Amino acid sequence: MRGNPRSIVRAISCSHPRPIARPALCGVRWSTTDSRQWSTPLAKSLSEAISTTGPVSVAAYMRQCLTSPDGGYYTSRTNGHDQFGQKGDFVTSPEISQIFGELVGVWVVAEWMAQGKIGSGVQIMEVGPGRGTLMDDMLRTIRNFKSMAASIEAIYMIETSTSLREAQKKLLCGDALMEEIDIGFQSTCKYLDQTKIIWCEDIRFLPKDGTKSPFIIAHEFFDALPIHIFQSVAPTPNNMPIMTPTGPIARPRDSKPNLWRELLVSPTPPPSSTTSTPPSAPPLEFQLSLSTAPTPHSTYLPLTSPRYAALSATPNSVIEISPESLSYASDFAIRIGGSTKTPETHKPTPSGAALILDYGPSSTIPTNSLRGIRAHKPVSPFSHPGAVDLSADVDFLALAESAIAASPGVEVHGPVEQAFWLSAMGIRERAEMLLNKAKREMVAQHQENMEAEDSVAMKLKRIESGWKRLVDRGPTGMGRIYKAMAILPHVPGKEGRRPVGFGGDVTL
Ligand code: SAH
Repeated sequence: MRGNPRSIVRAISCSHPRPIARPALCGVRWSTTDSRQWSTPLAKSLSEAISTTGPVSVAAYMRQCLTSPDGGYYTSRTNGHDQFGQKGDFVTSPEISQIFGELVGVWVVAEWMAQGKIGSGVQIMEVGPGRGTLMDDMLRTIRNFKSMAASIEAIYMIETSTSLREAQKKLLCGDALMEEIDIGFQSTCKYLDQTKIIWCEDIRFLPKDGTKSPFIIAHEFFDALPIHIFQSVAPTPNNMPIMTPTGPIARPRDSKPNLWRELLVSPTPPPSSTTSTPPSAPPLEFQLSLSTAPTPHSTYLPLTSPRYAALSATPNSVIEISPESLSYASDFAIRIGGSTKTPETHKPTPSGAALILDYGPSSTIPTNSLRGIRAHKPVSPFSHPGAVDLSADVDFLALAESAIAASPGVEVHGPVEQAFWLSAMGIRERAEMLLNKAKREMVAQHQENMEAEDSVAMKLKRIESGWKRLVDRGPTGMGRIYKAMAILPHVPGKEGRRPVGFGGDVTL
């Protein structure tokens, strides 16, 4: 949830979508005034691009805002601004408590054991690793399981941001050299002897190899991937009478189905010099409008699942679809279960696992979930493009559908609430261990000096409040809003097996 603020589920905070007066994508030229003051350089370049192409999809807008090399939120933070933590924009679970990453590590070890302690070719992968905190806590945990540690061939980090890649390298590899390779960069992990950590910007750059067993972690990654938004619209009724030789007759009632129309982003008209806006509410520079004509995505994406079709009959239904998320889920599935589509993706024995932890509804299609976060506060996703974090709810069921459709060799478990998953993984017991250790330190410090004792007391508080925050099942609590879902190898004859954290058990 990027801590509390990101969990706030709220409607799009821009004005209600207006229909675009003229069909989109038909070469409309939007006038921009050179004199307009834009909040960020990206706002200006986006507006200029839209004046040439016409309104853009929400996905294109999100992609630019988050990962444009020229001013994207994740890709242009070279001036030392950190997105994470109290001084940044949001806090994530691994930053709240070390226990989070430790339990993800335990889950990976448990799954590796359940799959017969795979002896070699194990890959650990993380998509969107942020500061690297989760991987750090995971690897500290995994190295305690010597035979699993020895089976790890390489660690892969899929990261689009240069500054975050550097932060991850520092944390996980210390002073080891970082060298450029054909798919990205590599260095040596400080926790596992001689094991390489390899960074690349996109999972598609990583070759698929049916002899490997990938264990893939995606925490708060899918919510950062671009979404398209569609609204179901009743067709315009044709009231013109039908002309017959004996005179006009009324047209029979139109029974055409509703149509999906895409919501598009365009700049707002420049603020008029005669209207004064209070300084507390600066005018938004971009707005959503409903396209009156089909777009390439509206004619295809909403037809890809019966779940969307079921909603189209209700006029004004709004659905969000993230094709990039679906292709990541199918990529994970093919790596784990193989695919019969090409010889390169053939995998005789499915192996590995993917664990997806993120926020979104368990089974419904996300709607109106696009949000902006800045300095721990919800803001409009259409303010300060590139300076505001954007995210949207994850459609877990769509990810599951995509994984299962991509590979006959996988099955999906969950989603379950994060509180359930963490409790089943033993968060309380681990917190108690850490608390007891801190208490022992406190007693020892008491004999030495008061200052050290105070810092241990703070640590105690942090452990206590941290783990409770992660499992909070209040209406906007992290334990309820966040979900865990797993993609696992499908083994005929072992259909009943449930992974640990999803109702299953394993003895470590
Ligand atoms: N998992 C981390 C960070 C979450 S923030 C944590 O929980 O703390 C999202 C992360 O995904 C960042 O590291 C960001 O740079 C990365 N990211 C966002 N979009 C991406 C994309 N399209 N491809 C690869 N990485 C991306």
